[in-house]
Parts: sequence; structure tokens; C-alpha cells
Amino acid sequence: MGSLQLKSIRKAFGGHEVLKGIDLEVKDGEFVIFVGPSGCGKSTLLRTIAGLEDATSGSVRIDGDEVGHVAPAKRGIAMVFQSYALYPHLTVKDNMGLGLKQAGVPRAEIDEKIAKAAGMLSLEPYLARRPAELSGGQRQRVAIGRAIVREPKLFLFDEPLSNLDAALRVNTRLEIARLHRSLKATMIYVTHDQVEAMTLADKIVVLSAGRIEQVGSPMELYNRPANLFVAGFIGSPQ
Ligand code: ADP
Ligand code: MG
Repeated sequence: MGSLQLKSIRKAFGGHEVLKGIDLEVKDGEFVIFVGPSGCGKSTLLRTIAGLEDATSGSVRIDGDEVGHVAPAKRGIAMVFQSYALYPHLTVKDNMGLGLKQAGVPRAEIDEKIAKAAGMLSLEPYLARRPAELSGGQRQRVAIGRAIVREPKLFLFDEPLSNLDAALRVNTRLEIARLHRSLKATMIYVTHDQVEAMTLADKIVVLSAGRIEQVGSPMELYNRPANLFVAGFIGSPQ
């Protein structure tokens, strides 16, 4: 299970309101993409879902349960960042297993989950290396592997491909699409890349200045944009 319900989410930093009332339903197993210009609040919204930011008001429910007061590690969420956020002094294996170790999962079980995730991501040859010995694409696969071993209800990706070159972006995108099919997990994915949005999404959420402009399937947004902003963002090739 991994449904998400957002109700009237508002978030302000000081006097600056960044999220201005977000309502959204994500169904179990859906691949949902947030798109919108830089600064419109995409990362803040993901971080609020993850519990890394507290909403100023409104509610976040996961599988129907209000999680406003649930610590990030206990929300059943794993997040993948643009910057990978790996520990430089730990091996790939230890980076992948750290969350489980901290949660008290027995070593044998951790090793089994790491082996499975490493197999899915072709990371077996790199398990003993440290992040500095890996390419950007490999590092991002480790970050994805670290998310997978936690078997989250909800995967959150914040522009995971932005630091990769064009060829790797395509490969990693296809890999994420494959993982979504095989894990049948709910995924919420931030990008400002139209191609990523159109090819990965079951549902696209177009944001502008802290508000949702439109929600729909890629074809719905492409064929029937609600306004010029959506048309400009989805319709025109870049
Ligand atoms: P996006 O991911 O869509 O580019 P962000 O969610 O990162 O946008 O940021 C939205 C707005 O909130 C920006 O104006 C940004 O400067 C501001 N913001 C984000 N995080 C903080 C913070 N911790 N403190 C103050 N302002 C912030
Ligand atoms: Mg961002």
C-alpha cells in the first residue's frame, strides 16, 4: 500500500508563503510527476510529504493515516536527491544498509536485501567501493538502491537525473520506469524536464508559485491544457 492524500497544504518560510493550499490524491502504485518552474515549491512539497519540513497548515495522510507528527524515518518513505546524499566514508554496501542497521534490522536480513537491490541495479561489482570511486550515474544508482532496501510505501525523487549527462539520463530514466513496474510502488518524482514528465508519469501535477495549475495524464495535459501556463510548460518542446 502507498496512497497519499494532501489536504490544503500551506508552507511559509518567515513571511514568504511557498505552498498556497495544495490538495492532491495519489493512488497506490501511481507514478506521479511534479513539474513547474524553479522556485515554485516542488522540493518544499516533497520535503513536506517526507516530514523533512512541517506544513504551516493542512494535512498529509499516507494510506489514510495522518502523519503530521510522525518522524520522517517512520513514514514508510524513501527519498532520492539530485545530489545523491551518500556518506563519503562508507562503502556502497554500508551506504545502502545504514538505514536498516539504524532501524535494528538483523545483519543477515540487511545483506539479503542489499544483494537483491544490487542485483536489480547491477551494482554488485561496486559494493566494496566508496562513493568517490564511482561515476555520477553509479552514485545515483546507489542512492536508488538505498531507497529500495527500505521497501518504502512511497518513493520520492527530487530531480534525480539533473546531475547526469544526457545518455545517462535516458538510461537511468528507463531504469526507474522498470523499477516502478517491478516493485509496483508509489512514486512521486520532481523534474523540470518535459520528456521525463511525459514518458514516466501516470499523472502529472503542474505547479506554479505554490499552487496546482492542473492535474492529469500526460495526454490530457497535452491535448487539453487548462490554461496558457500549462500549455507553455507541457506543450512546447524545449
Ligand atoms: P523548487 O524545488 O520548485 O525549485 P523550492 O521548493 O526549493 O522550489 O523553493 C520554493 C521557494 O521556497 C523558493 O523561493 C525558495 O527560496 C524558498 N525556500 C525553500 N526552502 C527554504 C528554506 N529552508 N528557507 C527559506 N526559504 C526557502
Ligand atoms: Mg527543487
